[in-house]
Amino acid sequence: MTLLDGKLLSENIKSEMAAEVVQILARGGKTPHLAAVLVGENAASQVYVSSKIRSCEQVGFKSSLIRRPAETSEAELLDIVRQLNEDPDVDGFIVQLPLPKHINEENIVLAIDPKKDVDGFHPVNFGRMAQGLSAFLPATPMGIVEILRRYNIPTAGKHCVVVGRSNIVGTPISILLSRKGYPGDCTVTLTHSRTADLPAEVRRADIIVAAIGIPNFIKADWVKPGAVVIDVGINRIDDPSKKSGSRIVGDVDFDAVAPLCSYITPVPGGVGLMTVTALLMNTLKACKGEVYTRI
Ligand code: NAD
Repeated sequence: MTLLDGKLLSENIKSEMAAEVVQILARGGKTPHLAAVLVGENAASQVYVSSKIRSCEQVGFKSSLIRRPAETSEAELLDIVRQLNEDPDVDGFIVQLPLPKHINEENIVLAIDPKKDVDGFHPVNFGRMAQGLSAFLPATPMGIVEILRRYNIPTAGKHCVVVGRSNIVGTPISILLSRKGYPGDCTVTLTHSRTADLPAEVRRADIIVAAIGIPNFIKADWVKPGAVVIDVGINRIDDPSKKSGSRIVGDVDFDAVAPLCSYITPVPGGVGLMTVTALLMNTLKACKGEVYTRI
């Protein structure tokens, strides 16, 4: 079994990006600039946003954090989005989700200029991705694709079973892995909470992508020996042996499944780190005008 080391991959990709930023600046180009908008005090969101900002610093990007209190109105947030859309120095930006309940997330995502939508959540980018056009790919599926690519894991003709059909993970990764080309050309089964006999479906998989949000949900007797296992889950469970009283586990019963597979992502240290790195990759693409031509 080989561990798919998201930490090592992220460090390698970040070093490549840092070197590229140096070259861009030496040619007189602009510093890539990612802005993040954080509304309210959600603890997990604060951790995610600070990790994104810290990663920007590591690769030599400029970053801006716009923090607003939880009582910010939808109109005020839409105004911030409009300003970021119009700011020529900002290459890409994210509005960290979830937003406070009184703000309609769909309205906010739709207001983001697709050319700056480095989270890849806007329907224009989703539609372009589905049609195989150049697009900002959503960061988590993009991170998974990059893991498969950098470990040279064969995908053509493989049967991939995705568990979970969210708009940010399950559905887009099922589209990406069924697309023509590498990594892709898989035969994909997209499963969810209404799937009949989920263990039987998962047992047919050469590649399993687990994105459910239930700790240790995928059991060893669901996994075909030699399968590739990508665990997207990030779940906090009680653990009195830890100083904090808790720890993070994935959606796969790692200890039981790992000895059976050919490759597996650890949690933490797998897909999560690659998600942040993919966001930086999208920001660099935005700066270079690789997805949409810069005007
Ligand atoms: P979500 O809650 O939006 O969707 C969960 C999906 O799981 C749904 O489509 C549902 O049909 C399916 N599901 C729920 N119960 C099921 C069951 N009993 N059997 C089969 N399917 C079932 O989740 P999400 O946003 O895709 O996140 C999934 C997990 O991935 C969470 O733990 C989340 O924290 C994590 N996540 C991690 C990253 C990362 O960077 N690593 C990014 C996004 C989400």
